[in-house]
Amino acid sequence: MTDTAPLPPLDRFPPTRAAGLERLRDFLPRAGADYARRRNHDMGRDAHDGVSQLSPWIRRRLITEEEVLAAVLARHSRNAAEKFVQEVVWRTFWKGWLERRPSVWTMYRAGLARALDRVATEGGLRRDWEAACHGETGIDAFDAWARELVETGYLHNHARMWFASIWIFTLRLPWELGADFFLRHLLDGDPASNTLSWRWVAGLQTKGKSYLARPDNIAKYTGGRFRPEGLATSAPPFDGPEHPPLGPAPVSDPIDPAAPTGLLLTEEDLAPGFLFESGVQPRATAFLDCTAGLSPLAVAPHVSAHVAGAMEDTAARWSERFGPVTRLGSADQIADWAAREGLAQVVTPWPCTGPAADALAGTGVLRHVRALDAAAWPHATHGFFRFKTHIPALLGQVTGRDAA
Ligand SMILES: Cc1cc2nc3c(=O)[nH]c(=O)nc-3n(C[C@H](O)[C@H](O)[C@H](O)COP(=O)(O)OP(=O)(O)OC[C@H]3O[C@@H](n4cnc5c(N)ncnc54)[C@H](O)[C@@H]3O)c2cc1C
Repeated sequence: MTDTAPLPPLDRFPPTRAAGLERLRDFLPRAGADYARRRNHDMGRDAHDGVSQLSPWIRRRLITEEEVLAAVLARHSRNAAEKFVQEVVWRTFWKGWLERRPSVWTMYRAGLARALDRVATEGGLRRDWEAACHGETGIDAFDAWARELVETGYLHNHARMWFASIWIFTLRLPWELGADFFLRHLLDGDPASNTLSWRWVAGLQTKGKSYLARPDNIAKYTGGRFRPEGLATSAPPFDGPEHPPLGPAPVSDPIDPAAPTGLLLTEEDLAPGFLFESGVQPRATAFLDCTAGLSPLAVAPHVSAHVAGAMEDTAARWSERFGPVTRLGSADQIADWAAREGLAQVVTPWPCTGPAADALAGTGVLRHVRALDAAAWPHATHGFFRFKTHIPALLGQVTGRDAA
């Protein structure tokens, strides 16, 4: 595959559980020491085999964090898999951190609205923003990553860090515009991991600590493909407001097991098995795609197509448990659907902060937290350093044994 004929996003990351499981199976032998050694190397769009590239499936829970962790720990010792396990747990941490401070998402959206207003009125900013999004800045590495993102829907973690740093400190573009560019194109675009990682690069997340992309580091970890010139040589951390006060950890809404129940699924979580196990027996099921709410601008077609495909796959896999399936066009249609189907309550996997939570606010839909999140999120109080001390207990829950 050459640069001019990239494999399209949905061929790289087919939106089915079967494809996710196959990727997991292929990756398992490399999840131990091999991952620890190679995970920081970005060898190019068709050579990302040092990392799992599982994120598009995990993002929609076509496969779950629990299954990934259990499969890896069945294959490798806890020691050998430590790095990989930690990365998966970062996702749980970021989600818990934002769940407990949802106003950080609201602040990001307000900052994005201001930045887009500036784009509309400041010609210079608009030109620079468009050049960055089209990969036309003249910084070869950055331009290659911008094109890779748009064409494949994926970027290696190290490339995301370098890209965000160059966006903020070399190109001096508003960080919210960069976070939005990612959310519109990443197949794994996630309000928590994305917003908080961009804030981390800018120095807003860990106060006083920002991330500087250095030419030597880029050359070392791209196998010498890039050594960009003219990058910023310092990254003064942004000065932002204090973190908002810590809110309570989410708790499932009470569900009446005897009442006629509808199941509502969004792109947040397409693994309803845990609800069935907890006694939910849907009389009818509806899908609601909230992806358009990721950005005030249009989300890339491959992202919408991935969500639509993932929902099709889920509907087909669970057809015998779902009852009649309805595609809702908006959250406003939930009440009519529930009335038509004779439902007394509608249950959904916990919609995390972002478009799904925004859409479902005030609808009365009952939210259910899965066990790993319920165990982990009470600990998402400070930084990852403190959070990770709870990993052994969390892994014990996943594997059913003391994984320490
Ligand atoms: C600026 C920036 C923006 C990001 N935006 C997103 C985003 O929108 N969605 C997203 O899922 N991740 C995001 N990440 C985190 C990380 O880059 C991706 O999760 C990872 O690159 C996905 O590729 P992979 O599946 O090959 O990861 P692997 O290295 O194989 O890791 C396995 C899994 O662990 C999780 N994971 C790994 N690293 C991280 C991390 N640093 N933070 C959170 N979870 C992690 C992912 O679910 C991933 O699939 C961002 C990072 C940065 C620096």
